[in-house]
Amino acid sequence: MDLKELTIPRIHTGLLKREFSSLDLTKEYIKRSKEENQKINAFITISEQEALAQAKKIDDLIEDNQPLSLIAGVPFALKDNILAKGIKATGGSKILSNYIASYDATVTKKLKENGGVIIGKANMDEFAVGSSGEYSAFGPTKNPYNTDYVPGGSSSGPAAVVSDSLATYALGSDTGGSIRLPASFCGVVGFKPSYGMVSRFGLMAMSSSLDQIGPLAKTVEDAQIIFDIIKGNDPHDATTIKDINEEPIDHDLSHLRIGLPKEYFNGIDKRIYDRIHEIIKEAEKQGAVIQEISLPHTEYALATYYVIMTAELSSNLSRYDGIKYGYSDNEAKNIFDVYLQSREKGFGKEVRRRIMLGTYVLSAGYYDAYYLRAQKVRTLIKRDFDEAFKNVDIILTPSSPTLPFKIGEKMKDPLTMYLSDVLTVPLNLAGLPGLSIPCGTIDGLPTSLQLIGRKFKDDELLDIGKKFEQLLK
Ligand code: GLN
Repeated sequence: MDLKELTIPRIHTGLLKREFSSLDLTKEYIKRSKEENQKINAFITISEQEALAQAKKIDDLIEDNQPLSLIAGVPFALKDNILAKGIKATGGSKILSNYIASYDATVTKKLKENGGVIIGKANMDEFAVGSSGEYSAFGPTKNPYNTDYVPGGSSSGPAAVVSDSLATYALGSDTGGSIRLPASFCGVVGFKPSYGMVSRFGLMAMSSSLDQIGPLAKTVEDAQIIFDIIKGNDPHDATTIKDINEEPIDHDLSHLRIGLPKEYFNGIDKRIYDRIHEIIKEAEKQGAVIQEISLPHTEYALATYYVIMTAELSSNLSRYDGIKYGYSDNEAKNIFDVYLQSREKGFGKEVRRRIMLGTYVLSAGYYDAYYLRAQKVRTLIKRDFDEAFKNVDIILTPSSPTLPFKIGEKMKDPLTMYLSDVLTVPLNLAGLPGLSIPCGTIDGLPTSLQLIGRKFKDDELLDIGKKFEQLLK
């Protein structure tokens, strides 16, 4: 069995035809995961016992000729900020290094009910802050294509796991690009759904108005299969939408109106620019109509994001106080010091920086000047997209302005690290779906394009994504 070739439908057929059992498959993935983890540090926890027990259960169902969901018996990984009952959930932080989840996230529950096999919890930047995977308290994940390079972040582990075939697919979270950027750096598909499509219940909150869970997979089809299972209204998350009514549309590339926002092509790596334009030419040959468009407030997106995100983050992370969860400093002399020292020692440098920034922008004298103003700019960014979608069906951009960078390269200067997300962040502010699709390698390192869809037209976006995937073959 070549793990590299496996997709969800392929495994489903294999299981039904008794070519292999879920137990064999799971054992094979776990063996490979243990070996490869020494090199790339993609997992924080490998949940071997739970995985083998679940796989055995699925094999019994197959033996009984019971109906099977497409994902039954298929091993997957969860980013370590998504809860799975009874399994450690660290969020990549020292402050939660011994925390065992007491319940399942809604997404976990749905995957389990469909017979999914969790093989482990994947590494990540602490509480999902970062673009490289280097801010994990458990050491950096390395890029499977070249271990001198970062895999992208903050879903560094999920992307590396899928890229290195340590599981068939993984779930990540995306607040400003954390699914799409690592997917791009590791040469896999990454999908951030529209805000409100997927429940955030059981996801450790980073920035609640931006966070969304989504799949990383080998193919767009696999990502769509997972999305179909995890999406939908959840009484535990009031921001999930009730009815998803998608009208089917004609997804042929011919006549598809593709918008290229000029702001997204400024200053990007020339090699990525050229690669994307080759693909655009191919699409044009198939009849797609290419239009240059403008999203004029793009230049403010990153600044807006760093005000709103840090404000929400500082509030969300206040729950980690050394009392309720996880690490508590036992050298503290009084209750006040317990709070202070547990947080000082439990959180890493980047998280502390953002808590300070967020507290500042929310403080009485500065709220109007920063937070409120950022919310207004957010509306303008959203309107840019509304305007653009009057004339185009889809927006195409690169996923990242650069190729993967070397480990350590951007650690000294947080601002250059923040710039990695300049092409992904605007969608989160607008709540739109975004899909990163690999388009080959440049000098041995992966690169991708990003497709941006209309809000709540996630399946339309995924269907178009499949056409592009074909084009790239
Ligand atoms: N890299 C971005 C940040 O550091 C995005 C993080 C995310 O999407 N979780 O905030």
